[in-house]
Amino acid sequence: MDISIVVPLYNEAESLPELAAWIKRVMDENGFSYEIIFVNDGSTDESWNVITSLAAEHPEVRGVSFRRNYGKSPALNTGFARTRGNVVITMDADLQDSPDEIPELYRMITQEGYDLVSGYKKKRYDPLSKTIPTKLFNATARRVTGIHNLHDFNCGLKAYRSAVVKHIEVYGDMHRYMPYLAKLAGFTRIGEKVVQHRARKYGSTKFGLDRFVNGYLDLATLWFTGKFGGKPMHFFGLLGSLMFILGFVAVAVVGFGKLWAMHHGHPYTLVTSSPYFYLALTLMLLGSQLFLAGFVGELIARNSPRRNDYEINEEITHDA
Ligand code: UDP
Ligand code: MG
Repeated sequence: MDISIVVPLYNEAESLPELAAWIKRVMDENGFSYEIIFVNDGSTDESWNVITSLAAEHPEVRGVSFRRNYGKSPALNTGFARTRGNVVITMDADLQDSPDEIPELYRMITQEGYDLVSGYKKKRYDPLSKTIPTKLFNATARRVTGIHNLHDFNCGLKAYRSAVVKHIEVYGDMHRYMPYLAKLAGFTRIGEKVVQHRARKYGSTKFGLDRFVNGYLDLATLWFTGKFGGKPMHFFGLLGSLMFILGFVAVAVVGFGKLWAMHHGHPYTLVTSSPYFYLALTLMLLGSQLFLAGFVGELIARNSPRRNDYEINEEITHDA
């Protein structure tokens, strides 16, 4: 099968028939074999009924339904597990993404050799309150992830080589960082295509402004787990040791300074009347706490069932 289209949705009943018809038209015009996997993320409207009747009409339409609303990332993850196509396309259900982009995205994956192609809504039809923070968000994401050629990390319209979605796990709100997840898993050929964007036709947006706060926190998490998740001691241990040593040296200086002054009959004061004493104490305490945090982290990492889970690309054996 050429293409699997994964559509996460939450209360998008009005859009679905139009979306399915549009996808079908584009696929038929280009002669692709395809499937549409609708993942109903616990909608409280008629969405699931609409999907059921679409599936009864079209054999290409499949559906999964959550009992409750989990979020876009869990919906995508569930859809990904079920894809059978060589190329996987994700798109939003609200008709803001255009299925007309699919053939070119498909071509970029199959012919230009990209692992992942992200849409770029260069001209957006969203309120300013969304577009301005988005620019900032993307600039930060580019710096932190090191994927410098992407302008629009969170675009719902993306294309993946099948292996990518089968090897990455998206949870929480991490769908904003699919390119980073792919990169961390070793899929580094990441491209971008400018795509058409349209205003929402039916329903309303499911994400508020808290998306930006959460987005930054998630970015920090991914960066940290990507860098130190497997070896937490390299972060906490280093920082803790440095602080402890610094504190120790400072305490020694204060203490010996006083002994030296006493010995030579110079005037001296209590060590506790020096601010350096308290700074040194704090450094030593925090340093040992950090060091311990590193140890606990190592114990956790050591117990992770996935500690020896690696992305193997190719292998040569002489077994029969
Ligand atoms: N969505 C979802 N679960 C949620 C929230 C959103 O599956 O909990 C879907 C939603 O139905 C849509 C897509 O994710 O298909 C993008 O959501 P939305 O259009 O509200 O985001 P925006 O375009 O405002 O960024
Ligand atoms: Mg939308």
